[in-house]
Amino acid sequence: MLAILVGIGTAIATAYADKLTLVGGTVINPADTKTISNAMVTIDGDTIQDVGPASAAATGVRSIDCKGKFILPGYFDTHIHFFQSADLFTRPDGVDLNAIRPYRDEVAWVKSHVDDVFARYLRCGITSVVDVGGPFWNFEVRKHANETAKAPRVAVAGPLISSVSREKLDLGDPPIVKIDTPDQAREFVRKLAGQKPDLVKIWYIVDKDHPVDSFRPIVRATIQESHSHGIRVAVHATELETARAAVEEGAEVLVHSVTDKDVDDSFVHLLKDKKTILCPTLVVFERYGRVFANKLNLTSEEKAWGNPEVISTLDVTKIPADKLPDRVKSALADPNATLAQINTLYAVALKNLKTLEDNGITIAAGTDAGNIGTIHGPALFREFQLMKEAGLTPMQILQCATANGARLFGGDVGARTGSIEKGKLADLVILNSNPVDDISHASDIDTVIKNGIVYPAKSLLP
Ligand SMILES: [Zn+2]
Repeated sequence: MLAILVGIGTAIATAYADKLTLVGGTVINPADTKTISNAMVTIDGDTIQDVGPASAAATGVRSIDCKGKFILPGYFDTHIHFFQSADLFTRPDGVDLNAIRPYRDEVAWVKSHVDDVFARYLRCGITSVVDVGGPFWNFEVRKHANETAKAPRVAVAGPLISSVSREKLDLGDPPIVKIDTPDQAREFVRKLAGQKPDLVKIWYIVDKDHPVDSFRPIVRATIQESHSHGIRVAVHATELETARAAVEEGAEVLVHSVTDKDVDDSFVHLLKDKKTILCPTLVVFERYGRVFANKLNLTSEEKAWGNPEVISTLDVTKIPADKLPDRVKSALADPNATLAQINTLYAVALKNLKTLEDNGITIAAGTDAGNIGTIHGPALFREFQLMKEAGLTPMQILQCATANGARLFGGDVGARTGSIEKGKLADLVILNSNPVDDISHASDIDTVIKNGIVYPAKSLLP
């Protein structure tokens, strides 16, 4: 006790300069759905020191008048990929446009725009992101984020452990690695463990050549080896039986929605028993198809805060017709068929999201940003719209984007973020209008605070 008192005493000389109070706003804590109107939040350095009803602020303490404003924990996007820009050339394994822009140039652009991506996340109130799979370069991105003030907190997985290979993405540090045996899986996890990944990611792709059971021993070995190093596992699984197998084998996180059929009671109970976290990534399911069919529906937030160079590539009609891959040609020839496919998928995915939410499964908001047309940063607000279409309330959506996001992020940072309470890190979004009335207000951002540093939202982008 004495040591603590001495510590506080010696800190006082600098504490005034570092302290900050937010006075008069409405604090919204989606974690427990409680709100405090006319509140005072006291921040000391990078930490929330106190939250309660407004009172006279101590003299000498900097304060921000938040009357009429709404204060939330910073948002999380729990599914992004830094190795992808979201432009048309970022997935040559899906649509090969090397003839227009070599993938090597695309990767160079991505690597030179990391700070730009960081700033766009903060502009959107997103103070933490989870990169769910990419090259070993991802670990450098995390390190760089940790050293950069104007950056979200970053958790990363390394290369995806996969049943299929993607040669066109391999320039020496591939984001996706084909693993053929359980022994190979264990060896690769040991290599990953040296980098201290926040998650290990499995790309559990099932098709007629790769049935659920054929890859399952590799899923099992990957999860066992990861757990022996204290690392959680996230699995890409979009079919009900694939998702069920992944959770039965011990995966803590399911990424993407189940899109092939309605989830059943036993699946819901399984997720509940195992406390599995599911990240639906609804927006990504429409964006490939809409870009290729020239029916892109970017939101006003995406147009305003997405990278303009990225967005300018998404008009497929600019590509000479003879250079268009077949996948794009056929989407362009019959855009309504593409839109119908998207609607069919959403009919299942949105219904499943509502079922899981109603049954108390932990849902963490995430977008799969970086994939073609899914814009780093503001794509989260399109995800919110789709979650609303699924029938989630604004408070539920905010909980998915804050407290549940922190659970998926995990580790010490996850434990210290996601809510506004004493001792948590000072990552906050200050809004001009109430998101509980209408989730579209979640993007009406006045100010973003990350790690105790205040950024007027308009100052964050050029
Ligand atoms: Zn992904």
